[in-house]
Amino acid sequence: MDHFNYKDNELYAEDIKVTDLAKQYGTPLYVYSKATLVRHLRAFEEALAAKDHLVCYAVKANSSLALLSVIAQSGCGFDVVSKGELMRVIKAGGSPEKVIYSGVGKREDEIEFALSQKIKCLNIESESEMYKVEQVAERMGLVAPVALRVNPNVDAKTHPSISTGLKKNKFGIAFEDASRLYRYIAQSKHLNASGIDCHIGSQMTSGAPIIEATDKLISLYKELLEIGIKIDHIDIGGGLGVTYNDETPPSPYEYLAAVIARLKDFDVAIYCEPGRAMVANAGILLTDVLYLKSNTERNFCIVDAAMGDLIRPALYNSWMNIIPALKRDKSDALEGSDANGNRLYDVVGPICESDDFLGKDRHLNVREGDILAVRGAGAYGSTMSSNYNSRPLCAEVLVDGSKAFVIRERQKEEDMWRDERMLENSTSHDFS
Ligand SMILES: *Cc1c(COP(=O)(O)O)cnc(C)c1O
Repeated sequence: MDHFNYKDNELYAEDIKVTDLAKQYGTPLYVYSKATLVRHLRAFEEALAAKDHLVCYAVKANSSLALLSVIAQSGCGFDVVSKGELMRVIKAGGSPEKVIYSGVGKREDEIEFALSQKIKCLNIESESEMYKVEQVAERMGLVAPVALRVNPNVDAKTHPSISTGLKKNKFGIAFEDASRLYRYIAQSKHLNASGIDCHIGSQMTSGAPIIEATDKLISLYKELLEIGIKIDHIDIGGGLGVTYNDETPPSPYEYLAAVIARLKDFDVAIYCEPGRAMVANAGILLTDVLYLKSNTERNFCIVDAAMGDLIRPALYNSWMNIIPALKRDKSDALEGSDANGNRLYDVVGPICESDDFLGKDRHLNVREGDILAVRGAGAYGSTMSSNYNSRPLCAEVLVDGSKAFVIRERQKEEDMWRDERMLENSTSHDFS
């Protein structure tokens, strides 16, 4: 459920016509719905209400300061994977005491910064990292709260590129090694065993893998209890899927009910790290149809958004729904259209790469100058964008009812090379 709906054949973001947003702010343009985001936040909070818990929004899905501040105000915590993300959370008013820090390759300065900010927990992903955190904590004269991110070797049954809980994946600590490392942590003066963590993959459309993983974490939890190590939280990671096409993922409530049922008799808090499920359907990407062209084999719909703005189709071959801002009547159809007034198009961007596409084989009734919307673009859209082909990053707006707020200005060309330097005796030209 989201707040991007048609009224009289025109697509709206909450109470604003998206063609008006495109006109006012230009394209390509990310548009977010605050009501949708808040609805998703509440769903997770309510799903876990029966138990001590912390919902840690996975910042990498969308790290916009405006969205982070809405999330922080709701009382949610955050899962970060870099110093930059932690700084963003703090900048957006988030409390470090509700931040957990994941990732296989934390640098020493990042660990030091995280400890200096007194974050809730560092999720450790290797034995070497454990010693590094201990060293840094000792130097700083404090005790670092840690969890081991274990790799439960559970198949998330998702796309191979976003599966993270198998032995062949770089993530986490082998399950067999976990109790040995917890024993080490228990005797360390500078480490405190705060939790057990896992994150097995993304875009999971069934609850079964997470239950399998939870059972493994519970067996470890009990094993640790027996040797006198009492951790305070079990973190089941993120990974709940969303509907891009015809997927039918469980609701947060259904997804978490089974986890809660298994943990209800244990004196332990539940943490989770949702990213995609929180923001994907809270955002769309608007793009202008620049040109239509056809050859004997295909029709191309060339738009002004590219893989630099939204890389999921090019990177993972992800299917994303592309819909017109204005639904044209089938009587108003171009030559060669089907009975519904549609032609079959590849929707492609301006970047000089054959893989620069947003969608293939799409039935659309469009004209040059029409606006298209890519749905489900709120997660792993803007955060994965790049300047490839020297294209400035998109503007982004957040809609709240009938009001729209620019939450990121469209990048200026000059800002793309602001940090670059030429050799001393080069000549340079400024634009006015
Ligand atoms: C990416 C990531 C998440 C979020 O995954 P989603 O599929 O977006 O919910 C959670 N935890 C960790 C450690 C991650 O790397």
